[in-house]
Amino acid sequence: QGKHKYSGIVQDCCCDYETVDHLNEEVLHPLLQELVKTPFFRYFKVKLWCDCPFWPDDGMCRLRDCSVCECPESEFPELFKKPYHRGLPSDDLMCQEGKPQAAVDRTLDSKAFRGWTETDNPWTHDDETDNSEMTYVNLQLNPERYTGYTGPSARRIWDAVYSENCPKYPSEESCQEEKILYKLISGLHSSISIHIASDYLLDEATNLWGNNLELMYDRVLRYPYRVENLFFTFLFVLRAVTKAADYLEQAEYNTGNPTEDLKTQSLMRQLVYNSKLQAACPLPFDEAKLWKGQRGPELKQKIQAQFKNISALMDCVGCEKCRLWGKLQVLGLGTALKILFSVNGEEHLGQTLQLQRNEVIALMNLLNRLSESVKFVHEMGHAAEKLIEGK
Ligand code: FAD
Repeated sequence: QGKHKYSGIVQDCCCDYETVDHLNEEVLHPLLQELVKTPFFRYFKVKLWCDCPFWPDDGMCRLRDCSVCECPESEFPELFKKPYHRGLPSDDLMCQEGKPQAAVDRTLDSKAFRGWTETDNPWTHDDETDNSEMTYVNLQLNPERYTGYTGPSARRIWDAVYSENCPKYPSEESCQEEKILYKLISGLHSSISIHIASDYLLDEATNLWGNNLELMYDRVLRYPYRVENLFFTFLFVLRAVTKAADYLEQAEYNTGNPTEDLKTQSLMRQLVYNSKLQAACPLPFDEAKLWKGQRGPELKQKIQAQFKNISALMDCVGCEKCRLWGKLQVLGLGTALKILFSVNGEEHLGQTLQLQRNEVIALMNLLNRLSESVKFVHEMGHAAEKLIEGK
């Protein structure tokens, strides 16, 4: 096992690469992997409608793997066996892909969630309180991996995300806050690319899946700023989770399965009040430094509007499974932004912060994805670089 070459403090954060790798390996990754498997965290409510406000004709998905792998029913507890379809009539599942098998698996337990507030996220385009077109998706049946979604359609989305909404290569003049939006998106993009590379269709004929280290190198590792941005995004989201620790610890994780729900609660507690994390990296990111000065409120509004546009672009992602993970992770980022910036005054956080369960599900699943990417870079980064050097 090799280590990657990064060392020192992650830029704009408060912890160094070695500490992040170590904490992730020892504490965060194992806990998050357990957490996202619990009934509470594996069902995500999403509007998968192809409601692209920008390009009506977007979308192409070549491979079956754009859709989902259906797992045997025996895998599920009794309560989860009854499929629950709501929202989209089946014809609509054709969507822009034009392939029924490209649809996301909507296996659902109708009792999976209860008792959370219904409040809209001010950072995202979707109205999260509107349940009319929402459907539930089992994330465990729909892993983020290579789907074959590529070409001008995918490129157009990323181009729009970067060119229209963020300054592409933040220059010295661009202020700290704008850089942060760019870095969050770039870090998320790195993570998506790493997931594609870590679960890639190596041979279509034999359906052989595995690591594609060359792709990981070409898309991420050869650009150090993309790795840095991945670490930055990970620490940013981690800070949001630790800032909302009291809220997250007190929240109800009730799915009607007391044993599982107690486990969820316990995992959450171990994560948000983690002594190793508090000792090694007590403040993963310092949000108090932002939105200062006269331009503060105006800038915040501008960045919120930009992030909303990015969130709206997710409806244009032409592959349904990519759209699912795009929407989940953007909602997760929106939730982190909401926790860190929407509430004025840290000391009142417990009283004023209101989260939807779906926001928390997105937040923790996003953190898990980022944690997986950091781990993959830690474990495979060196091997990928050696492989390329050897060629
Ligand atoms: P892209 O990844 O499309 O990158 C386009 C351009 O963006 C690059 O040329 C570069 O200039 C810039 N860029 C790339 N990475 C970064 C970075 N980290 N920071 C800053 N700039 C960068 N495909 C799948 O197989 N599975 C998925 O689950 C999946 N999910 C997706 C989700 C979304 C929201 C989108 C928009 C696309 C998704 N895709 C997915 C497609 C995938 O991201 C790529 O677009 C596709 O694989 C083609 O890759 P590419 O080599 O052309 O470069």
